[in-house]
Amino acid sequence: MKQERRKSSNVLLDTALQEFYGAADEMGLSEKLISILSHSERRVQVSIPVEMDDGSVNVFEGYRVQHSTALGPSKGGIRYDPEVDMDECEALAILMTWKCSLAGIPYGGGKGGVACDPLNMSEKEKEKLSRTFGARIAPILGKWSDIPAPDMNTSGQEMVWIVDTICKMRGDLEPALLTGKPVTFWGSYGRHEATGRGVATCGLEFMKILGKNSNHVTAVVQGFGNVGSYTAKTLSEAGVKITAISDITGSYYSEKGIDIEKAFEVINSNPKRLLKDFEKAGNCEKIENDLFVDADFLFPCARDGMINRKTADKVKARYIVEGANGPVTPDADKILADKGVVIVPDFLANSGGVIGSYFEWAQNLQGIFWSEDEYNDKLVRIMKGNFKRVWDYSKAKKVTMRRAASMAAIQRVADVVKMRGTFL
Ligand code: GLU
Repeated sequence: MKQERRKSSNVLLDTALQEFYGAADEMGLSEKLISILSHSERRVQVSIPVEMDDGSVNVFEGYRVQHSTALGPSKGGIRYDPEVDMDECEALAILMTWKCSLAGIPYGGGKGGVACDPLNMSEKEKEKLSRTFGARIAPILGKWSDIPAPDMNTSGQEMVWIVDTICKMRGDLEPALLTGKPVTFWGSYGRHEATGRGVATCGLEFMKILGKNSNHVTAVVQGFGNVGSYTAKTLSEAGVKITAISDITGSYYSEKGIDIEKAFEVINSNPKRLLKDFEKAGNCEKIENDLFVDADFLFPCARDGMINRKTADKVKARYIVEGANGPVTPDADKILADKGVVIVPDFLANSGGVIGSYFEWAQNLQGIFWSEDEYNDKLVRIMKGNFKRVWDYSKAKKVTMRRAASMAAIQRVADVVKMRGTFL
């Protein structure tokens, strides 16, 4: 009996599923493989009681989804955000499966998260939350089964709380259990900047292929968290003029180009690492929405769904490189395609993070440490090669880069599922 195809009321999950079905049909993938790959191997939900600073107890919901372990241990970040739920984690876990496959690294896809408002929690509260979450999901984590990393609103500190808790529970130190750790504790030089460096590398390769000199290109970088800030820094070091940046405090514009070093000074001196009052320090203008600024390239690095049915029409950039996961909704994708906008998809553009995680994990397994140059050289080389491969494939197949990337990624996973068989 043919199994019905999945649909979801969660926009992000439905988008991931429909893109998968679309690509799978175009590739002529068998219904058997379509059924297997459109379901996740494991979806785990946990409750996390935390005694808050005022003495009250809040019980938070936490999730970890392992979409596929066909290629290797499931890999993917843990995010803290009020909107997180199981379906969002599943959508992002699916995306991780394709991201790791496309990147050519030996991992499957996973993602986790906790529904909480980290910007309004103290360090103590976040520590308790992270440790209890880590303890709750410990049974399904392992260096050969499921390896978390930072994601939206989490960083090396959260990773240390989680790995420290699990290692103490197990009575053994296992740094390869998760990645994105600080350099001082089994982390790797380069990992912190890796996602942004990779996004910018894709952007710069894109410029090269289009015959554009980066010194004559303007770009907008939306979001100034870990991904956006290092994307902007790397681009501006390569001569690109960044005319607007933004975060939850607003959008900042300068026709002459934003002083990215100044922007780092501002976030480094703000306890929440925000660009608050940057218009003064950065000598720029506060504007309504940086998405609508007239620039050659747009790098949406904030969060999913920012370029949607309502905003897509006003986007002026001709080229988009997706730093965030899922920043362009399917409606917007169509509107932009009609306008001739070319998009480098998230699971190619932001794969520098997980490629960097693979480097960290590989070093941890061997107990060795690479230099920053070694790490960055390897990262940039792989990103350039992957960009070119997807670009060529999209031209050969006459499909968008998103579709080409999906097809290449799905093919590798499907081949391995076929080889390994369907027992579990
Ligand atoms: N959270 C990042 C991503 O979405 C990194 C994941 C990882 O390194 O495992 O790609």
